[in-house]
Amino acid sequence: MNEMKPFELSKRTGNIGLDFINSANFHRTENHQEWFNSEMDVMKWADYTGISVEEDSGSAMSLAEMIELREVMYRLALHAIKRTIAAVDDRRTFNEWIKQAHKHTEVTQNEAGVFEKKLIGAGGLTNIAYVVVLAFGDLIMSKTIQKVKQCQSSRCEWLFIDQTKNQSKQWCSMKVCGNREKAKRFYHSTKK
Ligand SMILES: [Zn+2]
Repeated sequence: MNEMKPFELSKRTGNIGLDFINSANFHRTENHQEWFNSEMDVMKWADYTGISVEEDSGSAMSLAEMIELREVMYRLALHAIKRTIAAVDDRRTFNEWIKQAHKHTEVTQNEAGVFEKKLIGAGGLTNIAYVVVLAFGDLIMSKTIQKVKQCQSSRCEWLFIDQTKNQSKQWCSMKVCGNREKAKRFYHSTKK
């Protein structure tokens, strides 16, 4: 069994779409680590990341569909980072999601007069899917995508946004992956 990173650590990229992708590690490989093992896990994650979820209005989305969406987004992210062409099917699937998410988006104004984006007519997992799809869509079409990297640790493939001035960040987190990798390098350099 692989060491599981604490759930709380996944909220750190600054884009909820990337955070969502990071709910798995080593996607679809033998070292696969999964945080979403039930619909309740996804709801807990949403609650933790601050997505407000209303009761499901009947158009229930399954956990399998949620994970499928995440894998599509993961593949698109890698292509966006490397500037390579993604599979037509993945782009088509994501576009369908974007269309649906926009269809359920409304611009409202809160009590303080601030305009906000609000999702209407969707509850449960579907609601969460729309939130992550919209955020991720914005990200891959923005300049920030050039700052998105994949962790260089051999034990982690999380995506993160490198906010350093000289784009020198190698690990998703210095605390977790950085220290572990540094310790490993130190060990190898002193072993001789
Ligand atoms: Zn990492």
